[in-house]
Amino acid sequence: MGKLQSGSQVSLETLNHAILNISTAIAVLEGADLILTHGNEALFKVWGKDASIIGKTLLDILPELKDQPFPELLRQVMETGVGYEDKEAVAYVVKNGIRETIYFNYSYTAIPRDNGEGNAAVLVVATDVTDLVLAKKNAEDRGALLAYLNHAGEELALSLDTASAIDKISKFVVPQFADWFSINVVNGEKLDLLFVYNEKQDYVNWAVEHRKRKPLRIDAPGIQSHILKTGESSLVPLITPDLIRQSIEDPEQREILLGMDLHSSIVVPMKVGTNIIGTINFIRTCSKKSYTELDLSFAQDFAARIAVSLENARLHEQASEEIHQRISAEKKKDEFIGMASHELKTPLTSLSGYLQILNRGDLPDTQKKFLEKAMYQSGKLTSLVNDMLDLSKIAAGKLQFSFEKVDLKALIAECIEATELSIPSHKIAFSSALVNVLVLADRHRMEQAILNLLSNAVKYSPGSDKVEVRLTAANSFVKIAVTDWGIGIPTDKLPNLFERFYRVNDTNPGISGLGIGLYITKEIIEKHNGTIEVESEENKGTTFCLTLPASS
Ligand code: ADP
Repeated sequence: MGKLQSGSQVSLETLNHAILNISTAIAVLEGADLILTHGNEALFKVWGKDASIIGKTLLDILPELKDQPFPELLRQVMETGVGYEDKEAVAYVVKNGIRETIYFNYSYTAIPRDNGEGNAAVLVVATDVTDLVLAKKNAEDRGALLAYLNHAGEELALSLDTASAIDKISKFVVPQFADWFSINVVNGEKLDLLFVYNEKQDYVNWAVEHRKRKPLRIDAPGIQSHILKTGESSLVPLITPDLIRQSIEDPEQREILLGMDLHSSIVVPMKVGTNIIGTINFIRTCSKKSYTELDLSFAQDFAARIAVSLENARLHEQASEEIHQRISAEKKKDEFIGMASHELKTPLTSLSGYLQILNRGDLPDTQKKFLEKAMYQSGKLTSLVNDMLDLSKIAAGKLQFSFEKVDLKALIAECIEATELSIPSHKIAFSSALVNVLVLADRHRMEQAILNLLSNAVKYSPGSDKVEVRLTAANSFVKIAVTDWGIGIPTDKLPNLFERFYRVNDTNPGISGLGIGLYITKEIIEKHNGTIEVESEENKGTTFCLTLPASS
């Protein structure tokens, strides 16, 4: 092995001995037959041989290399003198009956003849880098798993339809992480098979059908019930046939599992808070490596995300169901209001008619007074029934409008007069510097909206006796502001004010109403491309503002 520098303390013999014992395998193969003339302990270990192989040809020692490129490569190196290197080359060794993968860094170097004519041999140096490669692969696997987990997490978080999210992510789980992937969820006393995935559809069909035929009770002996009870996870690096025989009670299931080449498994609980809602099972077949602690922590993290997603989906379904029920209750209410107001309208119209006929006659003063009261009340009733009818028309999208040019100033004055006449408790002051204020409007509906605001202003200011109406114009809009000095509206109630049936109950005890006037008013104003706004201070007063496009 070369010459030592003169004066060296290390003898050639000691050096030889050291080389023979290092962990790097060294071989010297000579001549065209590749006869092994030198080899160290590490080489014998890798080849599973002993020192008796010295002096034999490579193919005598390892006949299985006959059709492999390795011998030819060595001959080429010898012939050309050009060395060769191979990094992280895979080799397999069988240890205790289990085939293991090992990785080597190889280098082949030609050794020239002493007389300088060509090469006599090849020096093969092989360093076992299995630990290094596995550490690197582990880090890569970990990175890939984490990236996957994030992806799956996003998929689950974004989708409320858990079934389709699980279906999508299962394509990542199988085959990268597992060959079997199944999710069980607790359903009363049973553990339902929510999801099962395997590349072989036959297995999936069998699993689904088997669970249907033989429901799994949550207390049935076995790994699933243990996990449900304890919340612990299970990691079985190596599933042996004996283990299957011992742990699976059902003979049919045992047979199927024995025929499946199962290799390694992880079962983890799915938890929502402290509640265990099911289990997730990952199984690898023989072709794959055993699960590790790292895989287990991945599976646990994964299960936690699926659990959250399932819980979200359950809550979502529950909420949708509630919304659905509320909508159908609303629909029934609408139908009832529509029907009731229709039924009320006919007799009410005749009643008002008869009252009017009576009123035409010559009656004593007391009777006339009572008749007027009856007409006033029937008028109120008619407007309530009309509001109810409008409500069902809005719900059905059938509130009709017929637009014409309307003098808004005159219309407001009419509304004020009518309000003062029917509720004389308040003086309604009207101010406007405008002369001709034309808007494109449905006269009857616009009147209805203004009357609503005026009657509310009066109704909700029992302690005051005035209301103010201002009509102004700016740009191409006109604005009607109705101000009262009444009970006002708490700020937190303002956002709901225009909803159907909404009433600020706490502030208006004793003031009756249905809570539909403002809803109808808003609908009317919006149909005129206008807006309605409100400003209010509790116990001080309220201003409602209508803004409408002016017409030229
Ligand atoms: P109703 O008057 O029949 O209850 P509305 O839809 O007209 O229904 O009004 C809804 C709610 O808004 C009323 O119940 C009342 O609480 C509040 N509100 C409306 N106008 C005023 C106002 N001018 N001042 C104080 N509160 C008002």
